[in-house]
Amino acid sequence: MCGIFGIFNHAEASNLTYLGLYALQHRGQESAGIVSSDGTRLFHYRQMGHVSEIFTRDTLKKLPGRNAMGHVRYSTAGSSELKNAQPFVVDYAHGGISTAHNGNLTNAFLIRSELESSGSIFQSSMDTEVIVHLIAHSKEKSFVEKTIQALRQVEGSYSLLFLTEHEMVVARDPYGFRPLVMGQLKDSFVFASETCALDLINAEYVREVEPGEVLLITADGIQSFKPFAQTRNAQCVFEFIYFARPDSFIFNRNVYEVRKLLGRQLAKESPVEAEMVVPIPDSGFPATVGYAAESKLPLELGMIRNHYVGRTFIEPEQSIRHFGVKIKLNPVKGLMSGKRVITVDDSIVRGTTSRKIIKMFRAAGAKEVHVRISSPPITHPCFFGIDTPQKSELIASSHKIREIQKYITANSLHYLSLEGLRSCVKNDAENFCYACFTGDYPVPFPMDLTKT
Ligand code: AMP
Repeated sequence: MCGIFGIFNHAEASNLTYLGLYALQHRGQESAGIVSSDGTRLFHYRQMGHVSEIFTRDTLKKLPGRNAMGHVRYSTAGSSELKNAQPFVVDYAHGGISTAHNGNLTNAFLIRSELESSGSIFQSSMDTEVIVHLIAHSKEKSFVEKTIQALRQVEGSYSLLFLTEHEMVVARDPYGFRPLVMGQLKDSFVFASETCALDLINAEYVREVEPGEVLLITADGIQSFKPFAQTRNAQCVFEFIYFARPDSFIFNRNVYEVRKLLGRQLAKESPVEAEMVVPIPDSGFPATVGYAAESKLPLELGMIRNHYVGRTFIEPEQSIRHFGVKIKLNPVKGLMSGKRVITVDDSIVRGTTSRKIIKMFRAAGAKEVHVRISSPPITHPCFFGIDTPQKSELIASSHKIREIQKYITANSLHYLSLEGLRSCVKNDAENFCYACFTGDYPVPFPMDLTKT
């Protein structure tokens, strides 16, 4: 879970990268960084925290040049600390390389131990760093050829941006797990995890970077390579369900439209008598709109979210720690009193959020609380870049739906069916990865990670 943004050939490259990262903040809130190039050397700045806290006018001034790229991080491999913040920057025999990665390499630990046993010294605990070592070891002539050779050795998911003093290289893994789009702003090339970053800087959407495509961008223009064996696509369906921003177009579909469809489908599959439908802000919102429209029930904003709960919040003392979810959400008093309420959320992971929220609905006077989830039960962890806990912590991996309903104290609980989900994302079903719902992982693992 990360966001990446790059721009080549613009007088305000680092300012626009800052804005691009701002739009992608939802993809990672742990750390952020920008690297720029003025054609002779790389400049970089990385910190823990949110984009708006990290960068100031002064720090951006210290990132000169017409090319830049940046990263927001939510760790799925490697711990959350500054040495693991990206873009990752190194100097090697042929100059500087910076790397920004969204995804997760499933064979990184094997490559790393091989490299370490032959003397390589790693600076971070990130899977991304193995790519940089493989590039440095490559005997190929050009940077793009070295990169392709390195990428041939890694497995798993990657949407990647590389910036050197003179060029940008962009790559998306052959399965296309994570999104990556290309845009244009006059004479500049722009790349971003999601189109919402293009919108903010008024860049025009050109197309997706295709699964298995490598792009080289230099002062002479752009070149596309398809160096990998063709395979099935496995775009992450969870991007549609939860992760991407609703205004974005990813995998050529608008996220909001897809989420509304999921809500409609859910209402068709699991209607229930009630007086109102209440979304859990913010991620459950679009699916609730679809559910309410299909069931012809009023949509009520019964839960209000405080948007200013940030990372900087001081850990509360033990005595007030039980406030938990109340810090974020508060019901509108009186609205639900004596009413039968349907609430729609996008997913249940451990079950703790739903349990707490239902308690709040009941405290607000709701007579019945019916929970509808706009995805199938999550039974398997993701190894391709979505941060899901290990299998034993996923409530649906070891509990029947009835047991989950009891645990979260709902009057009824229904999940969207897998068939329903497939029908809403529409494309040929083989285009998507549904592994978190099925355990059918598209990439074989070098060791059985699935037992964790
Ligand atoms: P839980 O309390 O563990 O069941 O978490 C469920 C809530 O977390 C739902 O409201 C989701 O919107 C949200 N969610 C789902 N997947 C993730 C994820 N990978 N990281 C953070 N939040 C998530």
